[in-house]
Amino acid sequence: MIAKVIVDVPSRATDRPFDYTIPAGLIGWVEIGSRVGVPFGGRVLQGFVIGLADYADVDVSKLKPIAELLDHVPPLSPDLVELAQWISEKYFCALTTALQVMIPAALKGKADSVVTISEEEQDYSWLHAGEGDAPWLAFIRASGGPVRMAALQERFPDDAAAIKQAIKLGILTEQVSIKDRLSVRKVLTVYPPDNEALAQEALANYSARAAKQQEVLRYMLENREPITMSALVETLSTTSGTIRAVADKGLITLREVETQRDPYAGRNFKRTEPLPLTEGQQAVYEEIAEALDAEASRVFLLHGVTGSGKTEVYLQTIERCLQYERQAIVLVPEIALTPQMVERFKGRFGDSVAVLHSRLSNGERYDEWRKIREGRAQVAVGARSAVFAPFQRVGLIIIDEEHESSYKQEESPKYHARDVAVRRARQHGAAVVLGSATPSLESFAAASRILSAASAFSVSDDSAKSSGGAALLPMPHRVGNRPMPKVHLIDMRDELKAGNRSMFSRQLHEALLDRLEKGEQSVLLLNRRGYSTFVMCRSCGYTAQCPHCDISLTFHQKSRVMRCHYCGHAEQAPEKCPTCESEHIRFFGTGTQRVEEELAKLFPGIRVIRMDVDTTTEKGSHEKWLTMFGERKADVLLGTQMVAKGLDFPYVTLVGVIAADTSLHLPDFRAAEKTFQLLTQVAGRAGRHELLGEVIVQTYNPEHYAIVSAQHHDYAAFVQEELKHRRFMSYPPFCRLIVVTLSDEQLTLLITAGDKLASTLRQLAYESGVKGWIDSDGSRFIDILGPVASPIPRMKDRYRFQCMIKYRGNVGAIDLLKQAISMISGPQGQPPVQISVDVDPQVIL
Ligand code: ADP
Ligand code: ZN
Ligand code: ZN
Repeated sequence: MIAKVIVDVPSRATDRPFDYTIPAGLIGWVEIGSRVGVPFGGRVLQGFVIGLADYADVDVSKLKPIAELLDHVPPLSPDLVELAQWISEKYFCALTTALQVMIPAALKGKADSVVTISEEEQDYSWLHAGEGDAPWLAFIRASGGPVRMAALQERFPDDAAAIKQAIKLGILTEQVSIKDRLSVRKVLTVYPPDNEALAQEALANYSARAAKQQEVLRYMLENREPITMSALVETLSTTSGTIRAVADKGLITLREVETQRDPYAGRNFKRTEPLPLTEGQQAVYEEIAEALDAEASRVFLLHGVTGSGKTEVYLQTIERCLQYERQAIVLVPEIALTPQMVERFKGRFGDSVAVLHSRLSNGERYDEWRKIREGRAQVAVGARSAVFAPFQRVGLIIIDEEHESSYKQEESPKYHARDVAVRRARQHGAAVVLGSATPSLESFAAASRILSAASAFSVSDDSAKSSGGAALLPMPHRVGNRPMPKVHLIDMRDELKAGNRSMFSRQLHEALLDRLEKGEQSVLLLNRRGYSTFVMCRSCGYTAQCPHCDISLTFHQKSRVMRCHYCGHAEQAPEKCPTCESEHIRFFGTGTQRVEEELAKLFPGIRVIRMDVDTTTEKGSHEKWLTMFGERKADVLLGTQMVAKGLDFPYVTLVGVIAADTSLHLPDFRAAEKTFQLLTQVAGRAGRHELLGEVIVQTYNPEHYAIVSAQHHDYAAFVQEELKHRRFMSYPPFCRLIVVTLSDEQLTLLITAGDKLASTLRQLAYESGVKGWIDSDGSRFIDILGPVASPIPRMKDRYRFQCMIKYRGNVGAIDLLKQAISMISGPQGQPPVQISVDVDPQVIL
């Protein structure tokens, strides 16, 4: 038996499978998707098995055997291996990079696992042909405790399939220990009174001085469920000392309890029942249900205005999917993966929901991942990488806020979760639902057939032929026909003329006062980009730059240190301007900080929660702030983009946007789209319930179509105008892009390589017969731009140049690029300078 192994060396020269023999003891254990250790260049390296064969292309006697098997149940399934191959082709990355991104970080070293019999008394003779227990099962029983998988494997080499089957069926429970999981986590838990009568009596007799203790006891009597110490402290705003005091009286009990690292443990999610759907929801639901019933791999674009009830549609289609014993994946942008969002899914599907996001520790992430793989979870809710959730039968993939650029991974593999989702859905015959109030132009163009399917859209790219592109499902009205909030535009130039130098217009000022008086809440958005924390001399205009990267240093107020975002370079902030010696060197604090200060000055006593990168670094801080705001412990929620997404608070009646235009003039062809999306999203936070909402947008560009369309909640108008620009400039969705970045320490070497790459590409394009802007019917073209200096021309002491490939239709752009790179590379395939490729880039930097 031969295994084809991808070795974990991410270079082009090694990016192909190598053949290894499978030693006798491992036959049956090694599968497609197994992680193995193999001898490679004198060392033993980790690798993934991507194929099995009975014969090798070379002389078998020359092949080396696999050195070890790293996990007993393969971490990847054949369909994920196939998906990784597709990713590596499409996004131009090493296969090992694509494989690695699919497994949790905790699975890097060797996993050691033990198994136990789940139910000792059961008769498992049906497991094998003979009488009584299979020999390996008898061996486990006889041991009277956990048995190491390695021992089983050694002793019963031929029973691999049966043992693995037993694990999958839950007959054996496998416990895996990897480095950061070795220590079992114990949590101090409070148990309710054993003796109810005694506790009731004590409750009645508490003295007024011990009111806090009384409160603890009352809570435990009313709720009668174990709760973790920390959760109880938080729920009652009390101290652990108080709780211990009650326990010392023997009224309640404290115990250390071993836990699975469930990050949502100790939290009760209120069970919710399906709501009767509105007419609009029903129509959409039926379309999706039809695809689910037919197990058809179809893509839907659910275009529903904010508050139209998209989430309820998600929940009910998931329920339908689960009825077919198929699983569902829900992707939400990392930033929107708030407790509120999680609650809605846990509330409906309880423990069968696994949650995957980046704030989990490696161990927690691994536990959630295993919950999915072992079939204990049916629904995965998570950020981008949850698209790889190791379910056996995926029936439905939902991508909420599909337009979010965070679905594109910015480092290799630079995949887009939306495209991967469509591809994965095809493997499983699953439906894909892309939901948004402001769909990306690419998705909208594909779904509304503005463009022929083959032209531009990444989703329709290769799925178009099989599924007929995406279907548009509109939900243009809010639930209960609630009105969309009224949006007022304030021209900030008029404010200045009227002598108002504050960052708040008179209207916003008044509206905030009004909410304070009524006890209603406000959300204030500061469009983060454009405000930064740079250091500038007011006399000569000097700004502090990183000496290694061409980018401004970021000022950190607390430590008074200036730091580079790209390379980490740090230096003390100067007292005087290094160029002109002026003392008028100013540190521009974070935008939100300044707004917070101004709020405190203008509205004495105002309670503000500030949410930005500085206040949300701590684990769980997100959750804390939002809970506080939900409990109306603050009047204003002030923040960057992160306050714009997915929040649903009934007492928010005012949304203010401090400066709408800061993202409008970025050198990015999506600047207008991003601004429109952001304004629409944040406006949607107001008046979602009984109280009416009002939105005040401050701007210096009150005539700009992105801002005017957002004011009128007019997606169609925005799209019409924006498509004109995109067509004229030839940008997506009218074409597709590939950005190739070359970098090197030596400028001359870089320029030569850049020129060579561009001219080779042009030559190849010319030879392949597609060249120039548009060929006869306009459905195919390829154009190569550059090389030019990158928007950040130097990073980590390396100069950067980029070429951009614009193309439309099936021109084999990736293949041309591959060919061109290999033509300018050395004999061993080493490129002359570092080359990185971004297919369908979201951020052009
Ligand atoms: P969206 O995600 O489209 O912005 P949500 O899913 O948050 O909208 O729904 C907005 C509000 O309407 C929520 O409070 C939700 O509970 C409520 N809602 C949704 N569907 C229904 C329904 N069928 N009947 C009553 N209320 C609903
Ligand atoms: Zn100066
Ligand atoms: Zn730097």
